[in-house]
Amino acid sequence: MDNIIEIKNVTYEYTDADQTYKAVENVSFSIERGSFTVILGHNGSGKSTLAKMLNGLFKPTSGDVLVDSINTKAEETEIEVKRKVGMVFQNPDNQLVASIVEEDVAFGPENLGLEPCLIRQRVDEALKSVGMYEFKDSTPHHLSGGQKQRIAIAGIIAMEPECIILDEPTAMLDPVGRKEIIETLHKLNKEKNITVVLITHYMEEAENADRVMVMNDGVIIDDNTPREIFKNVSQLKAVGLSVPQTTELLYALKQNGFNVSTDVLSEEETAKAIALCLEEK
Ligand code: ADP
Ligand code: MG
Repeated sequence: MDNIIEIKNVTYEYTDADQTYKAVENVSFSIERGSFTVILGHNGSGKSTLAKMLNGLFKPTSGDVLVDSINTKAEETEIEVKRKVGMVFQNPDNQLVASIVEEDVAFGPENLGLEPCLIRQRVDEALKSVGMYEFKDSTPHHLSGGQKQRIAIAGIIAMEPECIILDEPTAMLDPVGRKEIIETLHKLNKEKNITVVLITHYMEEAENADRVMVMNDGVIIDDNTPREIFKNVSQLKAVGLSVPQTTELLYALKQNGFNVSTDVLSEEETAKAIALCLEEK
């Protein structure tokens, strides 16, 4: 298997006034190049700590993180690791640095020391890939949250990473903005073959992922396709997570005596399952 990230027996400890706290404990997994992975987990389960280790921002207390076979502990290759794995955070306002959209997206490539004509090419392409090219001369603070977050993503894409990690990128957005981001990520994954690791607590955002990992108390408690993950409603609820509203609806119908399938993922599948159940009546 061709893995862009491999993490092996990774533990991360925070130390506060002589007390240590293991936020991530002995976690191992690999991320396949070109895949779309979602990490779910309630607040405080260790997702952000784990995310920051995946591009070398945090070094594990013990264990190893390999990015394209490079150990993130090696200081001389730190920049290379950060170029391969870009990070997008929750608040778009904290990530935008310039007063014009295209200048903002150019910030990363400029720091890489690229030629001006190459920077322009990268900026244009990145803005097109997130559907924001026509806003290149705009002022970021006039844009919606979803648009601003797409600019932040373009800024990362312009550095041509192999993988992007997004730590709850939709948490501050309205439903329209959330949808824009998820669709943009799937497009980047399919069209540019960028590996995506999306951290979220919105269950619906995991529906089209290749793989879902569920995190609780610093460990990965489940790792499967979204369809299999969402079948396990009681496990998700036990770790403080909800299930997609569509799944919730079908379980409620079933509990009320309707012979309806609960093996569904999307709104379309839910509609079909209900229609089938009504036909049988
Ligand atoms: P999540 O992103 O899933 O909400 P975090 O990785 O932010 O989880 O935090 C995991 C655990 O580590 C939490 O219990 C949190 O309180 C603790 N933690 C996070 N940052 C620090 C810190 N700087 N010092 C001490 N404990 C921390
Ligand atoms: Mg977090």
